[in-house]
Amino acid sequence: MNVEVDLKKCQDHGQCVYAAPDLFALDNEGRLSLRSEAADVYVAEVDEGSAEELYEAAEVCPLQAITVHE
Ligand code: SF4
Repeated sequence: MNVEVDLKKCQDHGQCVYAAPDLFALDNEGRLSLRSEAADVYVAEVDEGSAEELYEAAEVCPLQAITVHE
């Protein structure tokens, strides 16, 4: 499965970090750590074992910035 995070929508609220600490983190400046200068969208493969966490993160994100692809 894949996760897609729209980094233009994301406002670094951090709810995803609480819901899925193995998948999301904030950096020292309080910004989502998977941000990069190069891309507006972050895409990564996620292990099936983390599916529950991932769906929880997608659900709690107040900006619906997280999309899960099976
Ligand atoms: S919960 Fe959503 S808006 Fe907040 S940091 Fe995570 S992806 Fe960004």
